[in-house]
Amino acid sequence: MRINQVISNEELLQLKDYVTRLNNIVITCHLSPDGDAIGASLGLMHALESLGKTVHVVTPDMPPRSLAFLPGAKDVYIYTKHEDTVKNLLERANLIFCLDFNALKRIDTLAPLVAHAKGKKVMIDHHLDPEQFCDLTISYSRMSSTCELVFRALMGIGMMKQINRKVADCLYTGMITDTGNFSYNSNTPDLYLIVAELVARGINKDRIYNLAMNTSSADRLRLLGYALSEKMQVFPESHAALITLTKEELDRFNYKKGDTESLVNMPLQIPEVQWSIFLRDDETYIKVSARSQGEFAVNTICEQHFNGGGHKNAAGGEFIGSMSDAVAVFMSLLPQFADTNVNNNNKTENK
Ligand code: 5GP
Ligand code: MN
Repeated sequence: MRINQVISNEELLQLKDYVTRLNNIVITCHLSPDGDAIGASLGLMHALESLGKTVHVVTPDMPPRSLAFLPGAKDVYIYTKHEDTVKNLLERANLIFCLDFNALKRIDTLAPLVAHAKGKKVMIDHHLDPEQFCDLTISYSRMSSTCELVFRALMGIGMMKQINRKVADCLYTGMITDTGNFSYNSNTPDLYLIVAELVARGINKDRIYNLAMNTSSADRLRLLGYALSEKMQVFPESHAALITLTKEELDRFNYKKGDTESLVNMPLQIPEVQWSIFLRDDETYIKVSARSQGEFAVNTICEQHFNGGGHKNAAGGEFIGSMSDAVAVFMSLLPQFADTNVNNNNKTENK
């Protein structure tokens, strides 16, 4: 297969050396894992297992139910549930993959365990500004997804044969969840050559889309309907939109983790809206999600005001304070964005 090389030769050589020599492998990914984090982790696990390696996937917290269909999902060790096992696995591993995150704080309570683990550490990620805590850092922020990078890494070290149906199911899932089913960050021809390879391995792409991205509970649909109808505020003069959900409102709709996924994107459908903020009361803090279009950078807003960061068009944070404090911060930002140029032709996002 012919695609442009992205990962450097030096990185591939080092990766190949680790994968050849080291047999006891742990793979981990970020807190509140999404399709890319879990897809990359399980995809890499299946590929390495078919080389005869011992591989375990550990996550800081529970993956969403929508990803339970992925092969191997039930074998994931969740730190909040299997604390001792996860500690043990990390202590014993001689190779640790850190997938889909760029900084230790993104794995929350797992951070000290990974930081102090003795195994070789390899980051494979597509977020900006990787922290240097790994022995090998494979970080390319223009990639659609970590799953695309894992495919490229496997290909680059001669493991195309190990990309079997299970690997393909997992990697395809991350590629669609991180690109909105190829509706943003997906303008490179290589992406579709990779998709063709995965489809050739027998994946049912329509089934994966339906299970990973197009399945909701009735409670979730009602919560989204309520949020849009009763809680969305639009500020056309500042090209902004805000949605807030309090603890009481979340409880009323029997909120489960993942239920508000994609809500923050919806106001961007309005032509006047260039940036969108969603504030959710998670009790210990106000979870901030931010999305924007084109050149409007929401990561700087999250860094400066909401104790967070992320990508230009997709960012977030954890605001310490009350919901009304967080709303006040948002309101105080509006005047500076009045009359900025609206560019609606470029709806991009990177997760
Ligand atoms: P989401 O809104 O889907 O939770 O997060 C979108 C993106 O924003 C993530 O992929 C991540 O890059 C960034 N992000 C979300 N929450 C945080 C946070 O609390 N801190 C930082 N630094 N980045 C975040
Ligand atoms: Mn990702």
